[in-house]
Amino acid sequence: MIAYGRQDITQADIDAVIAVLQSDNLTQGPQIVKFENRVAAHTGALHAIAVSNATAALHIACLALDLGPGDWLWTTPNTFVASANCALYCGAQVDFVDTDPHSYNLCPVKLEEKLIVAALAGKLPKIVVPVHLTGQPCDMAAIHALGQKYGFKIIEDASHAIGGQYKGEPIGNGRYSDITVFSFHPVKIITTAEGGMALTNSAELATRLGLLRSHGITRDPALMTEPMQGPWYYQQVALGFNYRMTDIQAALGVSQMTRLVDYVKRRHDIARRYNELLADLPLTLPWQHPDSYSAYHLYVVRLQLDKFNTTHRQVFEALRAKDIIVNLHYIPVHTQPYYQKMGFKQGDFPDAEQYYREAISIPMHVNLTDEELQFVASSLREAMGL
Ligand SMILES: *Cc1c(COP(=O)(O)O)cnc(C)c1O
Repeated sequence: MIAYGRQDITQADIDAVIAVLQSDNLTQGPQIVKFENRVAAHTGALHAIAVSNATAALHIACLALDLGPGDWLWTTPNTFVASANCALYCGAQVDFVDTDPHSYNLCPVKLEEKLIVAALAGKLPKIVVPVHLTGQPCDMAAIHALGQKYGFKIIEDASHAIGGQYKGEPIGNGRYSDITVFSFHPVKIITTAEGGMALTNSAELATRLGLLRSHGITRDPALMTEPMQGPWYYQQVALGFNYRMTDIQAALGVSQMTRLVDYVKRRHDIARRYNELLADLPLTLPWQHPDSYSAYHLYVVRLQLDKFNTTHRQVFEALRAKDIIVNLHYIPVHTQPYYQKMGFKQGDFPDAEQYYREAISIPMHVNLTDEELQFVASSLREAMGL
């Protein structure tokens, strides 16, 4: 079986996890801070808050930015449902901005068109969530400029993108956003099994994120409403959750971080190899914006269906039949039944929908051999009947 994505676990990772199991703290110990510091150092962000998964990070990022009933969050339809659901958790409403046909990311031109209309209707978004699909950063300079003009906050959903760069700087440094979110699910670039992180350069947001991660409880006298009543004392000053990461997971993250740069390099090697192997097929290969150094979480091909005689579904099924576990990222969120009930319908976001009819994510992870890449390429050719 060749998976579309999977983790890489070394003996050093295993040793790091075992060391925590033999230590005093399985959770709320020193590994969390170590992992946060490593990711902050890599990205250049001032603050990093590790959480149980990226969905939790998106949720508390929205709350930290005061998203609530009556507010709007806009994101791309071409994403995992979590990028939109985070708004609904807060009682806010969701809308979408269609994608750019080349990068498949949220399109800043369409964003501006929609903002102009929303401004007239008095329905501007409080938060926009650009998603760095496949690990390629969005046009953040343009989105940030619109944020300044129209007064919205920005959460980068960088679940695919740790280790990538935008304009020569690490994704996550917060130059163009308020908060950046990473996911450490096993298919992503580095893993902690389940895990996520929120990064920010704002001390105030970092404090809020830290409170929301752990029940709204603080042991910091500076955040309390009255003096400490004793060494046992803590206060609940907000309504938070238990969204903590464990030390076991964080130790795995610390160990994985030592290989992040190599991982992304390896993903670029694989992408280059696929580019060669697939060059003569009627496929649209991943286009890369000159400003971007993708983390290459995914390698997505688009089938040029008018140039050969099998369907999208047939190609997909033929590859699966060969145990090549291809995938499709993503079913446009607005076409999900839950979102259709809110009034969204087919046809609302044509670029994302057209992409969905043609896209296939072929295997992309660091342990693929050249033999496997060749097998994927020849199987794809065969599946297309060529
Ligand atoms: C994986 C993913 C998430 C959710 O990550 P979890 O850590 O599994 O909660 C959110 N957004 C995008 C774009 C993702 O790919």
